Amino acid sequence: MVSSPLIITASLALAAAAAATATPTADISLTTCLTSASVPFLLPSNRTWTSYATTYNARLPYSPLAIVLPSTPSHVSSAVLCASARGVPVQAKSGGHSYASFSSGGNTDQPTLVIDLENFQSIVVDKTSYVAAVGAGVRLGNLALGIYEQGKRALAHGTCPGVGIGGHFTHGGYGYSSRAYGLAMEQIVAVDVVLANGTFVKASREEWSDVFWVCVPSSPALMFPYPFSSRLAVFLASLLS
Ligand SMILES: Cc1cc2nc3c(=O)[nH]c(=O)nc-3n(C[C@H](O)[C@H](O)[C@H](O)COP(=O)(O)OP(=O)(O)OC[C@H]3O[C@@H](n4cnc5c(N)ncnc54)[C@H](O)[C@@H]3O)c2cc1C
Repeated sequence: MVSSPLIITASLALAAAAAATATPTADISLTTCLTSASVPFLLPSNRTWTSYATTYNARLPYSPLAIVLPSTPSHVSSAVLCASARGVPVQAKSGGHSYASFSSGGNTDQPTLVIDLENFQSIVVDKTSYVAAVGAGVRLGNLALGIYEQGKRALAHGTCPGVGIGGHFTHGGYGYSSRAYGLAMEQIVAVDVVLANGTFVKASREEWSDVFWVCVPSSPALMFPYPFSSRLAVFLASLLS
């Protein structure tokens, strides 16, 4: 299971590269809201701004209004509420490897609030079910090491260790073992989601399934005619043998 604070954003607009290259300024009421909710965030005036705001694809630079650095799900919820109350688009960032700089606001022409999930780094493998609960900021290299060290298991995913699970597992994820075991996203059992109204839900095939299928935008059931959680168990067990 990938258990991670995911964020549903309403914006599906395509990138308008030129629109967001200038540094926008966060409305004072947005920063006041974040501050009063004790949400950690960075502004362009902060010393570490550049290292957080620089896009992986240097050809598509975007500068968000502010970058939130939550360390609890409540921080994520509060940040989403502050942004949505002001009509500010929210963009989650996990490993920051979006080719199109979407995690920096590249998929909208409006200044964005980025929620950088780098503080969510936990990996916990349940030794009975062999389902792993993984924080949304974990990168593929650490994921592979973590689940191997804890359970001598593996998951199908891509090859670049710096790619984050937030973008990779929700968008697809193809790697060396995918021909045999499928895409990374097909192994997701459930996701912890912060909705636009700030509430938390655990979405799976059984509960909040509409939210689940927004977060995992493919239909692995078309390819694998058995319950997904079973597939994960079969897959992991077969690797162990
Ligand atoms: C060097 C490199 C190597 C790659 N190798 C492979 C490979 O081997 N196989 C493969 O299939 N792909 C590969 N990719 C593509 C990669 O899987 C995608 O670019 C992926 O979306 C990156 O995920 P990220 O979390 O690092 O990126 P981010 O930039 O953080 O996020 C990408 C997108 O996902 C969204 N997102 C991120 N986290 C969350 C979250 N927690 N909740 C909701 N939305 C979220 C962001 O808002 C953004 O739209 C590679 C990319 C690069 C740059």
